[in-house]
Amino acid sequence: MKELTTTLLVLGGGPGGYVAALRAAQLGVPTVLVEGQALGGTCLNIGCIPSKALIHVADCFEQARAYAADSALGIRSAAPTLDLAQSVRWKDGIVKRLTGGVGALLKKAGVRVVHGLGQIVDGKTVEVASRQDGGEALRLRCEHLLLATGSVPVELPGLPFGGRVISSTEALSPSALPRRLVVVGAGYIGLELGIAYRKLGAEVAVVEATERVLPAYDAELTRPVLAALKRLGVVLHLGCSVQGLTGDGSGVRVRTPTADEFALPADQVLVAAGRRPHSAGFGLESLLLDMAGRALKVDDRCRTSMRNVWAIGDLTGEPMLAHRAMAQGEMVAELIAGHERRWMPAAIPAICFTDPEVVVVGLTPEAAAQAGVEAIEASFPLAANGRALTLQAGEGFVRVVARRDNHLVLGWQAVGHGVSELAAAFSQSLEMGARLEDVAGSIHAHPTLGEAVQEAALRALGRALHV
Ligand code: FAD
Ligand code: NAD
Repeated sequence: MKELTTTLLVLGGGPGGYVAALRAAQLGVPTVLVEGQALGGTCLNIGCIPSKALIHVADCFEQARAYAADSALGIRSAAPTLDLAQSVRWKDGIVKRLTGGVGALLKKAGVRVVHGLGQIVDGKTVEVASRQDGGEALRLRCEHLLLATGSVPVELPGLPFGGRVISSTEALSPSALPRRLVVVGAGYIGLELGIAYRKLGAEVAVVEATERVLPAYDAELTRPVLAALKRLGVVLHLGCSVQGLTGDGSGVRVRTPTADEFALPADQVLVAAGRRPHSAGFGLESLLLDMAGRALKVDDRCRTSMRNVWAIGDLTGEPMLAHRAMAQGEMVAELIAGHERRWMPAAIPAICFTDPEVVVVGLTPEAAAQAGVEAIEASFPLAANGRALTLQAGEGFVRVVARRDNHLVLGWQAVGHGVSELAAAFSQSLEMGARLEDVAGSIHAHPTLGEAVQEAALRALGRALHV
């Protein structure tokens, strides 16, 4: 087996791993990246990007149908049809363009990319026995090993993947639309894709174990999402759990909160009940690293319990978000290059790309109360925002949470069409330690959704202008 020595070896080329490799190479650290499937990882190939592409197709299709039925805007058109194969091709084109871009960036920076599954031998050695790029088997030796192997979908005991039971991966490349889709889990994936499938024309039922949709978010924020689900005709079974397929396989058995059971017909069952760190099956266990459940335990520099073995991204547990993985990757690369860095973001934004979208950055009023902080909060309704009305998007609100004593902004939440783009302003205000007066005193362009951010701050100061 051919041997290769490097300073940094990155295992996994998702957003965490490829950003780490890129930054390390930019800083002159000799770097090898091993990727077993496709550069870009879950995010670019089977996650963030393809899901947002499919959501866009679904939104456009629904919009076209709305014009055909009755258009308040005066646009008249015939009922649209869907060429699903072309929609999937379009989505694949975006994925290809982005993953190709990642490959080009890595090449330009001087990262050596090895395509093949890496098997950990010890904390300084990884073997790639079978190369997808046709190269010979490699034993890679390194000074620093960075683990960035991501996560995989949780499989439910009574519903193993296969046949009509699918994960988000299959749901993002449909060859045909199921007539009836049952979604298990009303979290991020279940609602983002459940809503998209409904808009594309499937009958969608969602079975959720808790009493609420998006249980990670507060009820006020999710109320407009609930209303949209109802309007779209997505059927909800809350407080229920799926026990398994029915005897003839034509649907699922659902248990209600009163322990009754009923059958829900399904041509396809999308299991979206969470993801778990990908920490087994490639020799990681042999390192006997400290774990936090199935996730790797890391400190505030993403160091594991073994010297010079680092871990980032979904492998290190919640929140499993691409921008967190990327930021951790950048930090570890800089640490290895000798910079002084620590993991201390003011907040990690979370966005659910449902209809309408939900954004949470920093503390909610409830979280502030739990932390014992005396806080003030104020909301500004999008119904009072001119831009929102011109976009037919007057549903939802922007909410700010700040310390009562010095008005330091602690958190932002928003729900509404297009509010995902407000996340940048929210994160910046928290990271820069803005006070309500800073936001209220900044001139926000008119007419924009961003004015709702300024108005929320004004309202928190008791100086609201437009409500
Ligand atoms: P991954 O992206 O999972 O990459 C890990 C890589 O490691 C993979 O390419 C894998 O092939 C490789 N690998 C694993 N083991 C080995 C081995 N032994 N040898 C070689 N290579 C190996 N997050 C957001 O922030 N916003 C979103 O909108 C969003 N949407 C999502 C939608 C869906 C449907 C899904 C499933 C996820 C979504 N996520 C989203 C989550 C996001 O995709 C992950 O948080 C992110 O990809 C994690 O990055 P990572 O680098 O830790 O791991
Ligand atoms: P999730 O944790 O968001 O939601 C899972 C849901 O399934 C929860 O509401 C849970 O109560 C429910 N559930 C669990 N077991 C169940 C059962 N047996 N029966 C019925 N309901 C059950 O998980 P997800 O939607 O699978 O997404 C996985 C992860 O991927 C997310 O946590 C997130 O980190 C990431 N992701 C992010 C985005 C985004 O940032 N926009 C989008 C998609 C995925």
